[in-house]
Amino acid sequence: MKTAKPWAGVTARCTLPEDSSDIGQPGTFPRSVIAAGYTPLDVVLHGEHVRHSAGGTAGNVAAILAFLGWESAVVGEVGSDPAGSALRADLERSGVSTVHLLQTTGSTTRVVHKTGANGHSYHFSCPSCGVRFPRNRRLSTTNAERLAELLDPPGVFFFDRANPGTVRLAEKLADRGVLIVFEPASGIKAAYALKAFHLAHILKFSTDSGINLHGALGIGLGRRDQIQISTSGRRGAQYRVGDSRWRTSPAFEYPTVDEAGAGDWTTACFLHALTQNTQAQNNPTVENVGDALTWAQAVAAVSCGFTGARGLAHARSCETVLQSAQQLVEPATALVIPTTNTTESAACSTNPYRIKNDELSLLRAYTRDVCSTCLEPTTSADRSTAVISWDNSIPMAA
Ligand SMILES: [Zn+2]
Repeated sequence: MKTAKPWAGVTARCTLPEDSSDIGQPGTFPRSVIAAGYTPLDVVLHGEHVRHSAGGTAGNVAAILAFLGWESAVVGEVGSDPAGSALRADLERSGVSTVHLLQTTGSTTRVVHKTGANGHSYHFSCPSCGVRFPRNRRLSTTNAERLAELLDPPGVFFFDRANPGTVRLAEKLADRGVLIVFEPASGIKAAYALKAFHLAHILKFSTDSGINLHGALGIGLGRRDQIQISTSGRRGAQYRVGDSRWRTSPAFEYPTVDEAGAGDWTTACFLHALTQNTQAQNNPTVENVGDALTWAQAVAAVSCGFTGARGLAHARSCETVLQSAQQLVEPATALVIPTTNTTESAACSTNPYRIKNDELSLLRAYTRDVCSTCLEPTTSADRSTAVISWDNSIPMAA
């Protein structure tokens, strides 16, 4: 178990800025992110309940940063189908812009998550109607070039798939001073992965992905000042800056209901903590990285107490999440949580997950002509009888 360590300043660094006028000013980091890559619709099954939410590493990181008060957007393509509409609606409910998440012809990729007493399993076809889900759509180079011209540079560009489109957009945004964060998945194509490795200021990967930067491949692979983070679930994480030695950051223990999404919480909260430190924004030290990673791991541990990758964001307020993480990091310390500026962060000041009436109407329309589990259009009268629950009311075991 990780024990608390002396860690001055965590409270001040790891909360939302108190003065929104600081954002975008010289010396402060623009708290905005554009994410591209894997953004399926998650179909979370828990007993008889079904919940649909935007998922994938790119989708989750964007939504979690929005939850933490960042300006956030996902770019790319989804299908022009009910699943694509549900995905976009959930991102928007979570405070993520979908203006550049285009709905084009074809169907949207989905992932079924079965959760319960037996753990969390992933399925790429529908257990109700049997349809096999399509692969995730790549960002086209044409779209990447268009976006690079169109978008105001964000603070961070995050991507988790290395392909011609995402790498091109990363190149363009890097030229404009954007912090590039790459989190490769397994099965990456070497040519584009190498480009992405070299572009990234921050490279994070899970040892479960089969990527091993500890070996010969890792020496001098990235930028000289690159932050590298290797996570291993409950076994914790390792990190280094440039070619410094790898250091270990153990995981926190927390009652676990569902570990899905813990890595995405780690990524988002690491970025949130690191960029709140003025020194770390410009020239992060190993200590800056270690401190930010510790805080991120604490939030990730808390997230494991809730069902679904973003169950924590559905069930708790931003302030409560910050307090829970703080208790893990410094359990013996009396909590002093500064008041957040509620006008700055819609995610913290209101419940963005409340279903609006028009969304309920949309949902009713879906249930008439689609599989109620995966939202695949169907004319069959033999549909799943599972209860659709868009109000995120999946019972929380925590
Ligand atoms: Zn289905």
